[in-house]
Amino acid sequence: MKHRLYVMSAASGAGKTTLKDLVIQEFPDICYSISATTRAPRKGEINGVHYFFKTKKEFEEMIAKNELVEWNLVHENYYGTPKSFVEEQLAQGKRILFDLDVFGKINFDKVYPESTGILILPPSIEELKKRLLQRATDSEEVIQLRLDNAVKEIDYAKKHGKYEYTIINDQLEKAAQELRNILKDPYQA
Ligand code: 5GP
Repeated sequence: MKHRLYVMSAASGAGKTTLKDLVIQEFPDICYSISATTRAPRKGEINGVHYFFKTKKEFEEMIAKNELVEWNLVHENYYGTPKSFVEEQLAQGKRILFDLDVFGKINFDKVYPESTGILILPPSIEELKKRLLQRATDSEEVIQLRLDNAVKEIDYAKKHGKYEYTIINDQLEKAAQELRNILKDPYQA
């Protein structure tokens, strides 16, 4: 599994989505994992494309039936990786890029211990706050919650996370090139 499963983690606002969107289209054999979540869809998000949007009850049923590789409560919503999605993609010979929070990655490793971990960091906490405010898709309260979580997550990831690679997303094109290099040659990465 070493060169087939890639797990990216980043605090929200680290620029992970932009980075991933820029790079993943260049790799037709890599698909982006679609998680299940109880978070409400943001503008433009489509069920089954960006996430599988679930009610709390539906999600808790998935947990009870052991249908998730891992799951976690992130920013007061459930997020989890459906087993069926991972198994189907692997059966089709695809590599998969996951976006998991730091704690989700630790649980993911219990099932797939040989994934490649990529930690995406913002240049600084001040910059992260600026980006979250600019994005303005969330309320001030939500932004503060995300920022507090980000500080905790980054700290935890540095101390306990298993990430082979760290990308500091200072300049987008430079960060994108680093991600390309990791994904490019699975037998050298
Ligand atoms: P967002 O709501 O901005 O799309 O995602 C919020 C956070 O949820 C991100 O930090 C992302 O890494 C995390 N996340 C997304 N999908 C999953 C998942 O399947 N499992 C876990 N543990 N975290 C996820």
